[in-house]
Amino acid sequence: CGIVGIVGREFYLEQLMKGLKKLEYRGYDSSGVAYVENGELIIRKAVGRIAALEEKLGKENKNKIPIGIAHTRWATHGIPSDVNAHPHIDCSGKLAVVHNGIIENHTELKARLQRKGHVFKSDTDTEVIAHLIEEHFNGSLLDAVRHALVDLEGAYAIAVVHVDVPDRIVAARKGSPLVVGANGDGAYLASDVTPLLHYIRDVYFIEDGDVALLSAGEVKIFRTDGTRVSRPLTHINWTE
Ligand code: GLU
Repeated sequence: CGIVGIVGREFYLEQLMKGLKKLEYRGYDSSGVAYVENGELIIRKAVGRIAALEEKLGKENKNKIPIGIAHTRWATHGIPSDVNAHPHIDCSGKLAVVHNGIIENHTELKARLQRKGHVFKSDTDTEVIAHLIEEHFNGSLLDAVRHALVDLEGAYAIAVVHVDVPDRIVAARKGSPLVVGANGDGAYLASDVTPLLHYIRDVYFIEDGDVALLSAGEVKIFRTDGTRVSRPLTHINWTE
C-alpha cells in the first residue's frame, strides 16, 4: 500500500503513475488516481495490477495535470473492488482522499455522518475521511483537514485534493509513513522517498500529528491545532 502526490506547473499523469510504481513492492490489491483537469476532479480506479489502471487511463496518461494523488490499496475494510479502491470522494464530488492505514472509529463516524445526510458509496473505513472533511470545508482545505483529523482514531497517512483549491495538496500522518518535499517546479509526497528521488533529494519525514500543506515550490508543516512547525530537512544521498 502506498501514496504519491504531485502539485505544480509542468506535470503529466504518467509521472504520477511512475511514482506509484515505485511503491509496488509494498504490496496491494488495487490502485487509483485523482487529478484535476479543466476545473474538474477526475477519479480512475482499477482492481489488480497498476498496469490495469494504466490500461484504463490509456491516452489520459499524457494529460498535463496541475495536481494529482494516487494510491495502492491493501484492503482492510471492504473487499478489493473498483468501488472500494481509493481515492474516495465526498458527496459533492469535489474532494478526493487517499489513505493508508485503518480508521478504528469509522463505524461510529459513518453513522454520525449518515444522520447528517451523507451518502456512502463504498464499504471502506476510509470514506468517512472524505465526508468528514466535506463537513468542515469552508474554503480552506488545510483547516478542513485539521478539524477532521481531530475526530479520527487509528492510523493513517492521507493526501487530500479539492477541485476548488487546485494548487494545493494537504497531507497528514499518524502511525503511517509520509515523506514530503518541494523544488522550484512543484511539491511532492509519498509513503517513502523512492518516488521523490527523481525530483528532489532534500525531504521532510513528517511526524505523527503533522499536517503538511503542499503547493508548487513550497511545503508548510502544521500541527492539527494550526501551529506552524519546522521539521529537519533530510538529504538523501543514494541514487534512484
Ligand atoms: N483501510 C483502508 C482500506 O481498506 C486503507 C488500506 C490501505 O492501507 O491501503 O481501504
